[in-house]
Parts: sequence; structure tokens; C-alpha cells
Amino acid sequence: MRKEEDFLAWYTGIVEKAGLTDKRYPIKGMNVWTPYGWKAMRLIDEMTRALCEERGYKEVNFPLLIPETEFKKEEDHIKGFGGEVYWVTHGGETKLDIRLLLRPTSETAMYPMFALWLRSHADLPLKIFQIVNVFRYETKMTRAFMRVREIHFFEGHTAQRDFEAAEAQVREDMEIWQALARELALPYLINRRPEWDKFAGAFYSLGADTITPTGKTLQVATIHHYKDNFAKPYNITYEDADGTRKHAHQTTYGMSERLIGAIVSIHGDDKGLVMPPAVAPVQVVVVPILAKGAKDEPLEAARQIAAALKADGLRAEADVRDIRPGAKYYEHELRGVPLRVEVGPRDLKEGTVVVVPRDTGGKNVHQRTRLKEAVREEFEFLRERMLAKAKRVIDDAVRAAGSVGEIKSHAGVSVIGWCGDEACGQKVEAEAGTHILGTLEAGELPAAVTVPSNCLVCGKPSAKPTIAGGTY
Ligand SMILES: [Zn+2]
Repeated sequence: MRKEEDFLAWYTGIVEKAGLTDKRYPIKGMNVWTPYGWKAMRLIDEMTRALCEERGYKEVNFPLLIPETEFKKEEDHIKGFGGEVYWVTHGGETKLDIRLLLRPTSETAMYPMFALWLRSHADLPLKIFQIVNVFRYETKMTRAFMRVREIHFFEGHTAQRDFEAAEAQVREDMEIWQALARELALPYLINRRPEWDKFAGAFYSLGADTITPTGKTLQVATIHHYKDNFAKPYNITYEDADGTRKHAHQTTYGMSERLIGAIVSIHGDDKGLVMPPAVAPVQVVVVPILAKGAKDEPLEAARQIAAALKADGLRAEADVRDIRPGAKYYEHELRGVPLRVEVGPRDLKEGTVVVVPRDTGGKNVHQRTRLKEAVREEFEFLRERMLAKAKRVIDDAVRAAGSVGEIKSHAGVSVIGWCGDEACGQKVEAEAGTHILGTLEAGELPAAVTVPSNCLVCGKPSAKPTIAGGTY
């Protein structure tokens, strides 16, 4: 499996071989989460939960079905999602009076309840999230974790006192994203989407885009400011301190299993996955190295080491199966286990172990007495190397472009000048066959990129770097 030669073939093979998913389920775009993949997803969800709850979000769980009457209240939203909704029209043999839809996202399920819950300014901010499956009838080609029809979805929804409070929430959501991206070792650019590409019903949309080795971008998180665009049709109002009734301003934050797709694409290599330690289902595997006349001791030591690491809160396992070490290494490398600990007769004599990080394959000798500390240090070094490697890929993929021709001749992501005018933006998209991902809001451009200061089309000044590229 050569990642560089044929990325998509590599990706398609690796997600199944590593045990993340089984795509043989007989509905396209709906895959089975197998234990290893589901565990990784749950670990990401747990981190998301903790980051949200620290900041006052509370978890809820809303019904999967939404009545058509509620769905139709916000016009732009229907236009944006109408074409990709799954409808429930019958209960048994009985035709339903009001059609129901499977949530493609939950604004229209939640906001009628927000209207009931919200009474006074003392109830604000209202901050909730849920982690559920949503459904979108995707017509483009589906791909595991990247483009699916049943989506494992995190959605945070808030109601705020006014526009400014919603702005502050957008910034807080960006902090949550940054904390998560750090642990997943994912570099990103946060782009403010152009008007024609914002979320259906939003005032504005921010997208966190990461860049895969093919130079295409992958949107891995979105944060939207809704202003009072939903509060008005759903009548989400509160009584302010002065006794007047006001519409709330709202924000949302969305992420999905695409985070797994990004981890696979960006960190994986020809041997398989490389899991960031924070979300690796198995963080450390301990492999005994047996020698003639020395079998029991290494086996016992491997068990003890794994047990000690487990007791210290790490996800550690001893692989004591009666097969060759090479066969074990192959399997654990395929699954991207961050660290392998080897213990053989010589290590036992010297009170050491050999620690092998998944990315370098180097052999680092550590004292057994301070293995717990050493493992945590190795995790941090590994995460830093993963991020540095991913950033180098981005450095290669991102270039400044001063003309349509330069955008077209470059397979990766272009940084262009854009005046912000829709006509100029659309012209760039049409002529260069690219997408304007938006103006850069946060994230680092490669140092070598000189940001153009004038619009590519009309020559007027460009206030912010504009990012253009292909998307998954
Ligand atoms: Zn222009």
C-alpha cells in the first residue's frame, strides 16, 4: 500500500484493514462502525464533551424525527437542505398527516423547544450540545469518514443575549476547536466562508479546513453565527432587564467523523494508521521477546508492565499471543498504536525496556522504574513530530497565486488576493475550477507565502488573505 502513489486506493484499503469500519453494509454511505473505529470515535467524543462542559455547555439528546411543519419555518435552511432530506411518510401502512424527516442537522428540532425554554435574560446564555447520528442524502460519491449519508455528528447550539455575545461564543468555540486540533495533531486554517457558501440560514460561517496529502482540503469543523435569523421564525425571545422582549442571537458548532478521516489521511503511512496518543484505542502495546530457555520471565514481565501502565490510566495491552514478534509488530503498526514496548531477557537483566514510537520506528531504551513518565514524554514527542510532519505537508501544498493560471497550475491550496466582491469571487471559481474557501480568520500560513495585496480579478485592495482550493 503506497500512500504517495495512489492516495485514494491507500485510504480505501487502510480504513478497513486497520479495523475502523466495514463498508459492506448494503446501503451506500452507511458504514458499520467496527470496535476499533468506534472506540477511536468515542475517545474523540469524550474529549469534545470535556472541552464543552468546561465551558458551560450541557449535553442533550433530541428526537431523530422532525415534523415537516417545523422544518419549513426558516426559508434559507430549507433551500440548503431540502434536496438531501430522508422523508418518513408512513407509520406502518398508514400515511402520516404530516411528513417527518430524519434530522440532517437539528436546528429545526431544537429551536421550537428553545422558544419554550427561554423566558428571561437570566436564562442566557443557553448552551447545549448533542452527539448523534444525522442523515443527508448525499449524491456525490461516498467515502468512509469523509462523505457519508449517516453522519456521526457533534452539534453545539447556543442562544445569546445579543450579537456581541454571539460573537464571543464564536471565539470560545474556536478555542474548543484549537484545543481538540492540538491533541489530534491536525494543522488547519479557519476560513470565513464566502456568502454563497455559508451554512443555510447563517449570518456567517467559519470552516476549519485541513489539507490532505493530495493537496485537497477537508472541512473538519464549522462554527456559525446565526444572528437572529432562526430566532425570528422560531420566536426565540427573552425578557430583557428593562422589561422589553428581544430576539436571541444564536450560534452553532459542528464536527463529525471526518476527524477520523483527517487523522487517517494526514498521519497514516505505508504501514498503516498513526493514531494520536490522546485518541488511540490502544496507546501502548507491550511485546515480550522470548529466547531459548527464557520464556516465562518476559511473558510475565510484559503482563506486569501492561498492568502497571493500565493502573496509571493508560490504555495499555500485553500481546502475549504465541506468534512471532514480527507478525505482532505488523498488526500493531497497521492499527497505529503509538508506542510499542519490548521486553526481553537482556532488558530483564538490566532493568530496562525498549520503547518504539510508531512514527520513527526507532528504539529508545528507558529504565523500567520510570516507564510511566517515559511513556508520557514519548507521547508528547510523538504528537509534536506528527504535527510538524503534517505542517510540512501543508507548507508544500499552500502557495500564493497571482493569476487564474497560477491557481490552475498548482494542485494544492492557493492564497490569493480578493476584494470580497461576489462577482470577482465567482469569476475566480469558474475560471480556475477551484473553490474559494474564504478569508483567513485563524491558523498559520506557511512562512514562505507572500500574501497578495490586490484582488486577482479587479485589482482593488484585498483586506485579508483568501484561501482557494479543491475540497473533499
Ligand atoms: Zn475584485
